[in-house]
Amino acid sequence: MDLELVTIGTELLLGFTIDTNSAFLGQALGEIGVRIARRTSVPDEPAAVAAAVREALSRTRLVITTGGLGPTKDDLSKNVVAELLGLPLEFHPEIWEAITARFARMGRKLSERNRCQAEVPRGALVLPNPRGTAPGLWIGAEAGEVIMLPGVPGEMRGLVRQEVVPRLGQRVGGRVVRSLLLRTTAIAESTLAERLEPVEDSLAPLTLAYLPGLEGVDLRLTAWDAKREEAASQLEGAAERLRERVPEHVYGQGETDLAEVLLAEYRRKGMRLAVAESCTGGMLGARITAIPGSSEVFVGGLIAYHDDLKQALGVPARILEEHGAVSEEAVREMALAARDRFTASAVLAVTGIAGPGGGSPEKPVGLVWFGLADGQGCETRRMVFPGSRHEIRTRAAQYALWSGWRRAQSAATRL
Ligand code: AMP
Ligand code: MG
Repeated sequence: MDLELVTIGTELLLGFTIDTNSAFLGQALGEIGVRIARRTSVPDEPAAVAAAVREALSRTRLVITTGGLGPTKDDLSKNVVAELLGLPLEFHPEIWEAITARFARMGRKLSERNRCQAEVPRGALVLPNPRGTAPGLWIGAEAGEVIMLPGVPGEMRGLVRQEVVPRLGQRVGGRVVRSLLLRTTAIAESTLAERLEPVEDSLAPLTLAYLPGLEGVDLRLTAWDAKREEAASQLEGAAERLRERVPEHVYGQGETDLAEVLLAEYRRKGMRLAVAESCTGGMLGARITAIPGSSEVFVGGLIAYHDDLKQALGVPARILEEHGAVSEEAVREMALAARDRFTASAVLAVTGIAGPGGGSPEKPVGLVWFGLADGQGCETRRMVFPGSRHEIRTRAAQYALWSGWRRAQSAATRL
């Protein structure tokens, strides 16, 4: 089932209020198989509200609005919609009593302005709002149905959960919109698309969205209007087909953090992990220690930012002079020195140029060297990341976690 959403409020268009109501409604309705086919934001202006609701009704005959139900001058949604649908407003004494009682409980003085909140378009269903004064309204008319909800996010959410979802859910009858998120990293969006292309057609009727971010490209699979029991198995099957195409890049589902996946692998292998960080300045350690239970695996590390500290760690001065601090040689020495000094079975070392200054043709901004040392020796990797200083550092920390995870996976034996 499709409906349209109209969010009302000048502040939404000015950008001072972020339209979180839309995001919440999209998810809450999706869970019961109701799709928001289109959403529109309009200012608190009668003509704009009327036009948006009229057009939305003409397409889906079912519209949800949020905002503009308060007691102030700019709250005019109800009057506009009542007029649009040709319904007179009627004063409901029981709503007025509820508002009066609420104000009395809070010891606040009631204003005449609040009276309009007790007015209801003829025949509308009143949706009680225990969290605020303005009730929600479910208005039916010739042109279709309009469900009007208050703008205050907490009140809107309560009404959606208690009044809207149960009623719409009944109409839809057990059909759902469900998503599954696969997390990939260390692969460019275009390369990922190439690798997935052979199976993309087979995913229908599910849809696939590529969502690139600093930690990698997330893949969102969505089952639309599916039977509740079927949706989960369709999604799992499709996820498996995608995973098989890029097994080394898919590190988890949903909210999974790569640091958590890496720690689990190290714990299984009985490995003790340390870090030696230059350009990431502690971000790698922070990612790792953010995971509960990390102390079972993680021993710590050094932020070897200045050359003095790289030397103190054990990188020979000669290496730094000959090759520079951002070099394969330096990162290898950092990783091996940290492994031996910190009695770790594995080390992730990072050194790079985060910018915005300090780049050169041979060593551009974004160049990062990674060193992965363990009992088998040291492997190095070179990457050049795009973006701002923050983006380069974030990508570098994520890439270090990914390389560490991959190397631990391929370590067959307990080290
Ligand atoms: P209103 O019902 O239009 O008077 O809105 C009351 C308050 O709810 C506003 O001041 C906003 O802070 C908030 N609000 C309104 N619409 C939204 C929305 N779509 N998303 C998030 N907050 C909103
Ligand atoms: Mg408003």
